[in-house]
Amino acid sequence: MYSEAKPRILFTRQEIEATVSQLAVRISKDYQDKNPLLIGILKGSFMFMADLIRLLNFPLEVEFIRLSSYGRGRASAGKIKVVQGLRTPIKGRDVLVIEDIVDTGLTITFLLDYLQKKQPASLKLCALTDKPSRRKIPVTIDYLGFTVPDKFVVGYGLDWDEKFRNLPDICYLEDE
Ligand code: 5GP
Repeated sequence: MYSEAKPRILFTRQEIEATVSQLAVRISKDYQDKNPLLIGILKGSFMFMADLIRLLNFPLEVEFIRLSSYGRGRASAGKIKVVQGLRTPIKGRDVLVIEDIVDTGLTITFLLDYLQKKQPASLKLCALTDKPSRRKIPVTIDYLGFTVPDKFVVGYGLDWDEKFRNLPDICYLEDE
């Protein structure tokens, strides 16, 4: 699947830049005096996180968490595990989770439940992309970049089989 696929552009780097700037304005307004902890979900969110935090001109801290992932296929594995956990306590902190894509919603629901048990002062979600057509569990995305169609999305940090993360645009894969 997708081994012969060519990435096609969904959102250009210019559109991404404009959207990330708008998200940064909203996040700055909401978190200015809160010294929030931004938790990026590896690996897919690394590029988005790097661009976003450069536009946030107030004190904040950064953490990463790694969950077990889909592997090669596109169907949710169903079982989600924390592979690399937090090294910073989040009790009483204002936490903003940074995710690359919300698809069925299983992964992010698992993670938000996991974090909520650690008693943060607040817990919100910022997602670069949302694929609502495949949702299995309702998810509230507090800060959303783009809504994407039911396609396999790659680029700007997102991979297929560890490839395509380096594409500067948000693309989708279509078999020839
Ligand atoms: P969910 O649990 O919401 O179904 O899936 C979320 C995770 O699945 C994302 O963090 C991402 O790792 C992966 N995923 C879902 N859809 C896509 C997609 O279109 N492209 C890529 N690269 N990963 C996806």
